[in-house]
Amino acid sequence: MAMMPGATHRLLANQSRQGLMKSYQGVCLHTMVGSLAGTDSMFQKDGTVGTESHFGVGEHGEIYQWVDTKYTADANYLGSGHVISIETADYGGSFGRWNTAGDNVPYWNAKQIAAIVKIIVWACKTHDIPIQQMKTVRERGIGYHAMGVPGNELPNSLKGTRYQWSKYAGKVCPGKKRISQIPGIVKLAQTGNTTTPEPKPAEPKGILGMSKYVYTKAHKAIQKLSYNKWKTVSVGKGATSILTFDGSAYLAETSVTVTGLKPGETLQLRYIIASYKKGTKTKTVGYYDKQEFLGTTGGTYIKTSQLGKRAKAKGDRSERLRIQVWTNSKTAKITSVTNRTLKG
Ligand SMILES: [Zn+2]
Repeated sequence: MAMMPGATHRLLANQSRQGLMKSYQGVCLHTMVGSLAGTDSMFQKDGTVGTESHFGVGEHGEIYQWVDTKYTADANYLGSGHVISIETADYGGSFGRWNTAGDNVPYWNAKQIAAIVKIIVWACKTHDIPIQQMKTVRERGIGYHAMGVPGNELPNSLKGTRYQWSKYAGKVCPGKKRISQIPGIVKLAQTGNTTTPEPKPAEPKGILGMSKYVYTKAHKAIQKLSYNKWKTVSVGKGATSILTFDGSAYLAETSVTVTGLKPGETLQLRYIIASYKKGTKTKTVGYYDKQEFLGTTGGTYIKTSQLGKRAKAKGDRSERLRIQVWTNSKTAKITSVTNRTLKG
């Protein structure tokens, strides 16, 4: 039995008929084009006949386990015997009703990210999978469905092998916005699983215990960047702070839209800890790891996140989380910034 503690067990009928997993290459992320409830009723109706995944994540971070990870689930076609699959909700409720014809899947929200991280940490520990992002479909670690889709990222030479993850050509699952969030998710899973020096990450159970949710509206303003220099990003009109540290655990998620970042150019983001007191010079007292993003043709959508816990500053100064940007592009500009924060 390999059942995840804390997940809601919604085991499908006739699991053992699925056959045992042949290996544990990694964990594959999918999107439902639907809700958790809708997908659950479809899976329950069919049992293990047809397609199903091991896990499902709902809009509010609910975790369903449909198949014991000892057995295969069919979401990854020829790779199903080697990959643990996670389906995620993306339609209705706070996601709204979007045009499902193109690559319009909305971003995962903070609660879903926390749930996905929790599943990854458990699955990797239980089945001895390295917590790293797969760079190609043949590597071990955390990947996404489109990597193994013919006519998408699957190399022609791997058609018909265990790396072909879909019968159908051109599937975009889980969509470009969600794919852009995976490096941040892998990073969270890595920090959630190991002891790192200050600032100390919260335990995974702490993430799910978070209750205070803050969402800022998109700050739409052109922000010029400094070539080869770090610059603090404005997150609202006249505002640079994302949150003030008060001793509670937090998960901050920042989405940035960039124009003019050309292929081959890079942009980096890092969260910093700024010590602030009105009327005095602001001091930077800590840096989190930076993350690098590559330019693409057209607009670049970037999502990064930071998980942590830090005591309230002593004395009359306060300490705040801010985000900085660096680029080697002379043309890149930020056009929009949105923050979501979970605390508790
Ligand atoms: Zn998929």
